[in-house]
Amino acid sequence: MSRPRDVLIIGAGLSGMYALHRLRALGFDAHVYEAGSDVGGTWYWNRYPGARFDSESWTYGFSFSEELLRDWNWSEHFSPQPETLRYCNFVADRLDLRRDMSFGFRVAAARWDDAAGEWEIAASDGRRERARFLVTAIGALSAPVMPRIPGTETFGGEAHHTGLWPHEPVSFAGKRVGIVGTGASAVQAIPEIAKSAARLTVFQRSPNWCAPLGNGPIDEPTQRRIHATYEEIFARCRDSYGCFVHDADPRNAVEVSAEEREALYEKTYAMPGFAKWMGNFRDILIDPAANDTISDFMRRKIRSRLKDPALAEKLVPRNHGYGTRRVPLETGYYETFNRPNVRLVDLREAPIERVTPAGIVAGGEEHALDMIVYATGFDAITGGFDRIDFRGREGKALKDKWAGGPRTYLGMQVAGFPNLFMLIGPHSAALFCNMTRCIEQQVEFVSALLEHVRDRGLARVEADPRAEEDWTAHVHDTAARMLFTQVDSWMTGVHSEIRRARGRMAMVYAGGAPKFRKRCEEVAAAGYAGFRLG
Ligand code: NAP
Repeated sequence: MSRPRDVLIIGAGLSGMYALHRLRALGFDAHVYEAGSDVGGTWYWNRYPGARFDSESWTYGFSFSEELLRDWNWSEHFSPQPETLRYCNFVADRLDLRRDMSFGFRVAAARWDDAAGEWEIAASDGRRERARFLVTAIGALSAPVMPRIPGTETFGGEAHHTGLWPHEPVSFAGKRVGIVGTGASAVQAIPEIAKSAARLTVFQRSPNWCAPLGNGPIDEPTQRRIHATYEEIFARCRDSYGCFVHDADPRNAVEVSAEEREALYEKTYAMPGFAKWMGNFRDILIDPAANDTISDFMRRKIRSRLKDPALAEKLVPRNHGYGTRRVPLETGYYETFNRPNVRLVDLREAPIERVTPAGIVAGGEEHALDMIVYATGFDAITGGFDRIDFRGREGKALKDKWAGGPRTYLGMQVAGFPNLFMLIGPHSAALFCNMTRCIEQQVEFVSALLEHVRDRGLARVEADPRAEEDWTAHVHDTAARMLFTQVDSWMTGVHSEIRRARGRMAMVYAGGAPKFRKRCEEVAAAGYAGFRLG
């Protein structure tokens, strides 16, 4: 074990990278521990074909450094994973981050030592490190989930989870590929795999409402314009609900004429990115009648893109309204099902029974496969925390404290766990957010708080139980009127393959990033109200 440090950071994704940079700049002795072999987090692990984000690239990069902005050019409006991973490496190189990072260090346990006033982390191989403060930068979608299908271990071909994709190239050429799941990851992977696979069989249980991404290359004049207007771009992001360049239309869908509604739906459908989710009528995610109007529009769009009407019906969601789950953005997803080498297996008619050495048996039929891709998602938001045995005061386990659902103060601290800070934690606005924008806000809040504590000669910060109770109630109250709380998804903490005592609940702060930021600023201005400093 090296000497105790000021701050340990778990994770070398974008939040861990910026936390390290910021804390170092403030004079803290900070160090990052990362399970992977390099930086990148999400972009390090999710290397499946077609992976890319749905934030406009030019809104996604770090805004805190003019040099980083000046010296980086995004090549597409929605950057593909290899380029985003290159961006992470560019940032790590420029900020010389790796000298304070340890790779291949999977944190298995973290224990608060009350007498010493320190956290001790232990790696899965037994290595230990200590520090006064512990910051988790473990991401919200970092614990991949395999389906509970009998026989998965018996499969004789290749099998990959999208969230644990191999670093070596994976070839689909001439292969019979099966993919399980139709969430955002699958929706990106399916069109890419179909291009070269001999046959692609899509095992779908619940269709999602997918809509066009509208990606394209960034030409030279646009590149120059982006560089010249970064300040405006980030100001615009700062003021919008999810820190995207899309803001809700102030009108209600139910109060305008059918023609006006249709016009806005057509317009946002044709616009790139999340315009069709975040930039639509303000009531579509709140009012069931308004939601029906856009679901009806989207249903028509799906039908118009498929040649076979019966197949189209299988791809139309029936169990949730448009936008109440995160909208997967796609490029040619529906058209892929028109290809002769692609087949949809509707698991509601023909449930998967088992995986065999030769393929997947569904509805009594064996589908012979050379490769299975599991696009079965993540144990979101709390899953990354559950994989680490966090012990706070008196040895109390975080997992037990959160058995009935997370309880947090501002999504950043937990009563009973002094000096532990979470970035992009449960109950924060970051989960509905253009990630890097919200990461910057949270890292800056936490590092300013640590500076405040250090400069006053203090050593401990812990959420007041009352503040935690109030914030947790506020998170639930804020989400109550939103339709997404009535639907199973990772945003409500539900994954079909994980059995939990807790039921569906809001896991994210739904008040939007501007309100969240304002609350954080008020808390800081009031001497970090709600935090016990000692
Ligand atoms: P996901 O949305 O949770 O989707 C998992 C899929 O697997 C669902 O279709 C689910 O079906 C299916 N599934 C799970 N177990 C199954 C089983 N036993 N049998 C059959 N199907 C099964 O996961 P994801 O696609 O990885 O996406 C998660 C989140 O990551 C996204 O919502 C998004 O926030 C983020 N993401 C973002 C991007 C991007 O920026 N473009 C790309 C990828 C992912 P049911 O719905 O029936 O449970």
